[in-house]
Amino acid sequence: MGFLSGKRVLITGVASNRSIAYGVAQAMRREGAELAFTYLGDKLKPRVEKFAAELGSDIVLPLDVSQDEDFDNLGPALAKHWDTVDAAVHSIGFAPQDELKGSYVDNTTRDGYRISHDISAYSFVALARALRGLMHEESSLLTLTYLGAERALPSYNVMGAAKASLEASVRYMAYDLGPHGIRVNGLSAGPIKTLAAAGIGSFRKMLEFNARSAPLKRNVTTDEVGNVAAFLCSDLARGMTGEIVHVDSGFHIVGLPGLDGLEE
Ligand code: NAD
Repeated sequence: MGFLSGKRVLITGVASNRSIAYGVAQAMRREGAELAFTYLGDKLKPRVEKFAAELGSDIVLPLDVSQDEDFDNLGPALAKHWDTVDAAVHSIGFAPQDELKGSYVDNTTRDGYRISHDISAYSFVALARALRGLMHEESSLLTLTYLGAERALPSYNVMGAAKASLEASVRYMAYDLGPHGIRVNGLSAGPIKTLAAAGIGSFRKMLEFNARSAPLKRNVTTDEVGNVAAFLCSDLARGMTGEIVHVDSGFHIVGLPGLDGLEE
């Protein structure tokens, strides 16, 4: 019996079998969770239905986080299948591609700033509100974040500002929902080649640099991220809330990451 046995978890953000959300779903299923999924747009629906079926689920619901109506419909649609939800995973991020290269100061537009914060950060609060009626005293919420929230990194630009907002939200949501027994955490993953990551300028170089500089001397996989996500959403982590947990081969602890490559 897995450590998520009997738990019901809503997974957002599956777009391909490389999605972090897919790795999370696989790990959670392996640990015994029952899963439900959301998808963005009709084009992705059959693909997400196929992944859901592979993981023993036939609950696949629409959610475009830019639409209030989709959030209004989500709780009632999920309630047709489940009377409670034990955990929800927010694995959604987006910024217009033109913002994810070159100068942050010169390239950040009002629209780009608004859209990236709306889709990548506000959506986590909105998700919590949409599921509020289904969550109970031991439910938890988890979001995916990145080091660009804490450090200035090339090309990540406005997405870094959005992730910083998301991480602040984790703390405010944890503070707000804690008295109701609901835990809220963030998982800061190292770089992984996914559809969303492909939009970030110099991503290939980031992967190489990360692998070279991280204490474990390699990049992480979606399986490794999935395992920690499963733990954070389980009763094993019942004493943890408001936390940002790094799963990045230790890259974030290194003070002078490029030093190894320099000549004496
Ligand atoms: P991905 O492209 O597989 O997933 C991104 C998801 O966001 C997709 O499923 C997409 O449908 C969804 N999405 C975008 N706009 C949406 C909207 N308006 N409504 C609903 N869903 C929407 O890429 P991923 O790398 O798995 O990204 C998942 C999360 O992990 C993101 O928050 C990302 O920032 C974060 N993350 C990624 C990395 C990485 O290197 N890949 C590292 C750390 C954190």
